[in-house]
Amino acid sequence: MYPQTHLYFAEKILGKISDEITIGSIFPDFIISKTLPHEVSHQSGHKIFNLCRSSEKFLDLARAVITHGIKPHGLDYYGDEKYLDYERGYCFEKGRPFIGETVKACNIPLRMGWWKAHNIIEMGIELRINAIKDFGPTIRGALENKALLKDLDDLLGDISPEKKHCLVQKAGFFIDYIETAKVTALSLAAKYNTQMITKHNISVNIAEVAALIEKAALVVENDLEDFFLYSINKVKDTLKQTDIK
Ligand SMILES: [Zn+2]
Repeated sequence: MYPQTHLYFAEKILGKISDEITIGSIFPDFIISKTLPHEVSHQSGHKIFNLCRSSEKFLDLARAVITHGIKPHGLDYYGDEKYLDYERGYCFEKGRPFIGETVKACNIPLRMGWWKAHNIIEMGIELRINAIKDFGPTIRGALENKALLKDLDDLLGDISPEKKHCLVQKAGFFIDYIETAKVTALSLAAKYNTQMITKHNISVNIAEVAALIEKAALVVENDLEDFFLYSINKVKDTLKQTDIK
């Protein structure tokens, strides 16, 4: 999912927002690097929780990390990996009818179609979430909290071979990489173009992607709330188990 959606989800579960919760809610995407790939960052919830256990300040951050990840099951698990009896997660299932148009709009080979179509759905959801509440300034503010990021860098020293994660510098890049201003289909599509160039060296047709994002926002209208309710309950249970351990 996209950052504002993750923060919306974390707030629903934790009942509040702080810079710690904001950073935690986007952390598994924020921390990705060559030495800390997506699979690892999205399975770091328990490790980060154990590192933060002794610090009351960072416990909420660790809880928010867990609301995001894949193992233990956070929002990305239910969105990407598995939801109900679908073949994969909610966003993949919803993205299935978008594969053909996504391949065309994104100038990608068919084999990447389903994966990128699920991103279109995620952006449609981000558009809807931003219309409920604009989390952009909160995310920007937390990423600019250098004191917090420095403390976190020290605390997390040993979750990857990098030792130091240079979180303050990373935050500078990440603010540009994601949409923290007012979200529109066009602004999301323009950021997606930047992300596709960075990741795959491929330029997308921004106008066509924007039209698909608007369509995706409509396609999730009927069951997005059910998806969130289901996932919120599951992740609340997971957090209860984590807190007890
Ligand atoms: Zn993620």
